[in-house]
Amino acid sequence: MQIIADPKQIQSLAQTWKKSGPVAFVPTMGCLHEGHLALVKKAQSLGKKVIVSIFVNPLQFGQGEDFERYPRPFDADVTKLRELNVDALFAPTTSHLYPEGFETRVLVGKLADHLCGKSRPGHFNGVATVCLKLFSATLTDVAVFGEKDFQQVRILEQLVADFNLELEIVRHPIVREADGLALSSRNRYLSAEERQWALRISQALKAAREMAITRQAVSVGEIIQGVKTTLSEVPLVVDYLEVASEHRLSPIAHYESLQQIPLPRLFIAVKCGSTRLIDNLRLRESSS
Ligand code: AMP
Repeated sequence: MQIIADPKQIQSLAQTWKKSGPVAFVPTMGCLHEGHLALVKKAQSLGKKVIVSIFVNPLQFGQGEDFERYPRPFDADVTKLRELNVDALFAPTTSHLYPEGFETRVLVGKLADHLCGKSRPGHFNGVATVCLKLFSATLTDVAVFGEKDFQQVRILEQLVADFNLELEIVRHPIVREADGLALSSRNRYLSAEERQWALRISQALKAAREMAITRQAVSVGEIIQGVKTTLSEVPLVVDYLEVASEHRLSPIAHYESLQQIPLPRLFIAVKCGSTRLIDNLRLRESSS
């Protein structure tokens, strides 16, 4: 596996590779877990060559967020990627991606007005800006993103459509621990007790889906109330808890019946101790 920091260098490598088949790309911030590795395996099934990037992007962190303390176990990450036979690791420094004089940013529209975009102003502008840079450095034909960050993948699909980028975005389902907790690089911040509290999130989402499937006429408010009740037994602090349609991502009013919503998905963000956790689950396959 080649390890490359310079965008020009990865670009010329990708140029050569593209001649013999598609280049598949998996962007990450490192601290790799089985969720990331599942994306890499998916990329290997889609591309002739696979590039993974590791870059903790300062542009997508707000004031007081965990940019400084974000875990960066680089050597362990390299070992994991080598074991999977990844073709190249693109690991730029901040000045490689944002050199002196860099000043152009992507401005995301309405899709960033809700959910994480509302709690983290400017976050998705930072994500879209870095992804556009990463796509152009790696000459991506197909990029794989996890549904763990569902709003992110929707926004990047929109970026690709809006800017006529010649690449395909592929969604990968959320990878969970056996007990249901969604894998996240931030789970390592959790104490044993906090991890037990965090388990309630996926349990509540699953119970909500049961309710959505078994009760045809259930309202959004009843779904939300069910989740709140499950979570109320542990000291999680809810940042947002919303049902939204997968396409628009704007929260649906509580009085609405779930039947009216195309592809309803439940989205949640909580503070578990000092750690922010997110999760989501599709409630029904279709609105009927
Ligand atoms: P991150 O390193 O957190 O920026 O994540 C890099 C990519 O991995 C993103 O596309 C995430 O959505 C994806 N990802 C992170 N955790 C999971 C998970 N548990 N299941 C599936 N994809 C994930």
